Amino acid sequence: MADEQASRTEIGKLGEFGLIKRIGHGLQLKHPSSVLGIGDDAAAIDIGDRYQLICTDMLTESIHFDLSYTPLQHLGYKAVAVNISDIAAMNGVPKQVTVSLGLSNRFSVEAVDVLYQGIQFACESFGVDLVGGDTTASRAGLILSVTAIGEVNKDRMSRRNGAKENDIVCVSGDIGAAYMGLQVLEREKVTYQENPEMQPQLDKYDYIVKRLLRPEARMDIVHELRDLDIIPTSMIDISDGLASEVFHLCEQSKVGMNIYEENLPIDEATYSAAAEFRIDPNTCALNGGEDYELLFTISQQDFEKVKNHRDIHFVGYVHEQSKGVNLITRGQQAVPMQAQGWGHFNSENDSSAPGKS
Ligand code: ADP
Ligand code: MG
Repeated sequence: MADEQASRTEIGKLGEFGLIKRIGHGLQLKHPSSVLGIGDDAAAIDIGDRYQLICTDMLTESIHFDLSYTPLQHLGYKAVAVNISDIAAMNGVPKQVTVSLGLSNRFSVEAVDVLYQGIQFACESFGVDLVGGDTTASRAGLILSVTAIGEVNKDRMSRRNGAKENDIVCVSGDIGAAYMGLQVLEREKVTYQENPEMQPQLDKYDYIVKRLLRPEARMDIVHELRDLDIIPTSMIDISDGLASEVFHLCEQSKVGMNIYEENLPIDEATYSAAAEFRIDPNTCALNGGEDYELLFTISQQDFEKVKNHRDIHFVGYVHEQSKGVNLITRGQQAVPMQAQGWGHFNSENDSSAPGKS
């Protein structure tokens, strides 16, 4: 690293998204089959009558998960699910996964077996085949990297860049729950460290804790949209928090949006945990990540088909870029939306609990 000395920029200064932009800057796709490169939820390759979708997500110990409260079986499931979620975000269907592991000598063969029970379970539930991977030693705890491969009909792919003025902004399921699950688990961890006799009381937090530890990818929504003959004009999965993903869609689609605070879908369990922790539930929904729901836009003409859907919520509208990205508060005030991003490259996050993305 000697040649770094002359000028050194901390990665935290660019942040994750800035760094990815820098990596992608000036890259040219040479093969006509490389339809979509860096910048969406998955890459797209032309394989003839369809596009093949490819995405990778890595989970690292102490950054994305804390093994003191993360069951290995759930972790295996989650590592697959978060990748399937990126295939779903392209409106695609997953087919295969590969799994790469970095293992420190803290892990036994039996522990790896349990991790793979979760991986296998996810593969079965999402109908994908585990077709390969890599295994290596690690001095930095457990590292899990999954690559998912999927497919989408060429005329059905949803990218981040297709949102149009007057489109309706939709969110599946509910958001903010995983963030509150993390708060509960972190609190119980501290309590346990201070007094190991105390057994964690997690029953009443079942839902939010499960949202963090074992999220689902919303393939059900992808299938239902297909059955309703709806192609989202743009789509992304919510891994870093709604606000951050709204900015991704707006930036790539060159549009603005109004998001209505009163329409944010927040579960009762999230409300009550947020009240207990004195956290604004809207902040959880906007800036808490890891819910792996889908954020998408549909054209006005498709609204009738989904307006009564139990699990699709209408959170806002698309307008021209110059009108900006705004949160409309319950008091009907428009405030420019802030995307906090998680930036686990920041020094203050170095030793933090599980981070995002
Ligand atoms: P997501 O949250 O949907 O997984 P990311 O923010 O991780 O998306 O990545 C955004 C885009 O940047 C994706 O297209 C991904 O393939 C690409 N990307 C991320 N990290 C790298 C990297 N180190 N090198 C090349 N491309 C990357
Ligand atoms: Mg994504």
